[in-house]
Amino acid sequence: MSIQVKNLKHVYSEGMPFESVALDDVSFEINDGEFVGIIGHTGSGKSTLVQHFNGLLKPKSGAIMISGVDITNPATSMRDIRKKIGLVFQYPEYQLFEETVKQDVAFGPLNLGLDKEEVEVRVKEAIELVGLDYEEVAERSPFDLSGGQKRRVAIAGVIAMKPEVLILDEPTAGLDPKAHKELFEVIKKIHKEQSSILILVSHNMQDIANLADKILVMEKGRLAMSGSPREVFARREELTAIGLSVPPIAELLYQLRDKGFQINPDVLSMDEAVEELVKRL
Ligand code: ADP
Ligand code: MG
Repeated sequence: MSIQVKNLKHVYSEGMPFESVALDDVSFEINDGEFVGIIGHTGSGKSTLVQHFNGLLKPKSGAIMISGVDITNPATSMRDIRKKIGLVFQYPEYQLFEETVKQDVAFGPLNLGLDKEEVEVRVKEAIELVGLDYEEVAERSPFDLSGGQKRRVAIAGVIAMKPEVLILDEPTAGLDPKAHKELFEVIKKIHKEQSSILILVSHNMQDIANLADKILVMEKGRLAMSGSPREVFARREELTAIGLSVPPIAELLYQLRDKGFQINPDVLSMDEAVEELVKRL
């Protein structure tokens, strides 16, 4: 599995007074097994970009090749694409609608045409993979669950389709710290156990630093930077200029350095920061 995005352009409300170019000449590649983080200020085009991956949005120009198949070609079967690519929207819990958790998670796999027994197995596996107790939640109404639990049910509904590529658009937005941490672990586990490519849109630089192999930085519809977390977070000034930041722990070391301490602020985790501080103090 690999993805190539070539010169992608997307225009909303083309020819209308509110016409807006949401993506402009965006090109990059994602290799098999990669965990890709997408960051960018609100309105920079992140959600527009990821909705192209499963054909929900069509570009004005450019191409998206998934394992060599151009999914922007009208002749390509979207049914096959949607089997491979799972997309979890921002605030997916608003899209829960069935009477029970079990039915909600089963909706996607049933749509794939899988038989009932297979669907039951997948529903149970998916609910457990997102860290919920199947026996406890299966027959409950999704609307009676906490915010964090609802979010996990919505994610379970997509991973029950076993997509090779899983895209999560700001999955931890609005969650409390405990639910955030739990979901972070779930995402790590999904990438390890199920989806070979994972694409995570997030404002949380620490999560991105910890998880991503590659970061794409969006700014005003363009790809402003891409590279490993170390490469991208070394460009603190450029990130700040476009309303982004480095992980908080790196920011702390940058500020110490700016106050005159002989310190290398190029750290991605608490462990690296402690090591650097111990070395210098
Ligand atoms: P992000 O996810 O990074 O916050 P979006 O992809 O949602 O950014 O939006 C990119 C740009 O496209 C913004 O200027 C936004 O206002 C515009 N936009 C997004 N969705 C629509 C839409 N359905 N119709 C018109 N403009 C849109
Ligand atoms: Mg968005």
